[in-house]
Amino acid sequence: MVGVPELPEVESVRRQLAPELARRQVLGTWADPWPGTRLSDVDRAVGHRITAVDRRGKFLLLPLRTGTATPLELVLHLGMTGSFRLVPTPSPGEDPDGGVSHVRVRLHLDDQRTLLFRDPRRFGRASVVPAGDYAGRVPTLATLGPEPLSDAFDPARFAAALATTRAPVKARLLDQRLVAGVGNIYADEALWRARIHPASRRVGRTRAFALHTAIREVLAAAIEREGTTFRDYQMVNGASGRYAEELTAYGQAGRPCGRCRTPLRRTTIAQRGTTYCPRCQRA
Ligand SMILES: [Zn+2]
Repeated sequence: MVGVPELPEVESVRRQLAPELARRQVLGTWADPWPGTRLSDVDRAVGHRITAVDRRGKFLLLPLRTGTATPLELVLHLGMTGSFRLVPTPSPGEDPDGGVSHVRVRLHLDDQRTLLFRDPRRFGRASVVPAGDYAGRVPTLATLGPEPLSDAFDPARFAAALATTRAPVKARLLDQRLVAGVGNIYADEALWRARIHPASRRVGRTRAFALHTAIREVLAAAIEREGTTFRDYQMVNGASGRYAEELTAYGQAGRPCGRCRTPLRRTTIAQRGTTYCPRCQRA
């Protein structure tokens, strides 16, 4: 199965990186100079200490203590194929990536290790920005909705926002402004669980509350089992995660619905492959 890292996978990476990177000083950096990359100002991290590894939606945020009035932040996004490796910092003359291919960013740390950001398809991001100042720099982050597992994700506000447009509900979930971090996989899973057709343009208050609950349930369960596994996705240590045995909708077209046994159907919504039950998910 191929897919992009979603919130549970990014949270899993965050939990692995946090103890390795917190309090480490960045001694030097390298970023792929190819103009098509989404890498900017990575060298501004040099000389500063990483204070934490945080997450907003599918973004990793690494605050940098600068010792000045303007703290900085390293913003990382895995895109479609991004992953991290921690390797011993190579000596001069050795392969700077320790045999790892498609490396786009290196952060040399003060513990003789180097963090490699590997990204074959180059949709990932690494940018150093003034802390919290995303407008014009990282637009998706600037307009990101509330964290789905936090109290800021309020069911009444979610229902009211869903009622304001007639766009397909799945498109509203994917655009990140109603709620952060719900991608293609967990949108399909949550809509199946809430029995809402992904193309539905009218989601009333009761169904919106059910969808709010379903989003939290599917994300919490996925974080619990350390995210779903993907061919191009690897953990920080290079080991791949576990297989997604519990997906009920995403990628299951043709298989019987877990509730009503009707074969699940595949369609396209918001340019994304979408799987749903034509019988028990109602428009
Ligand atoms: Zn069904």
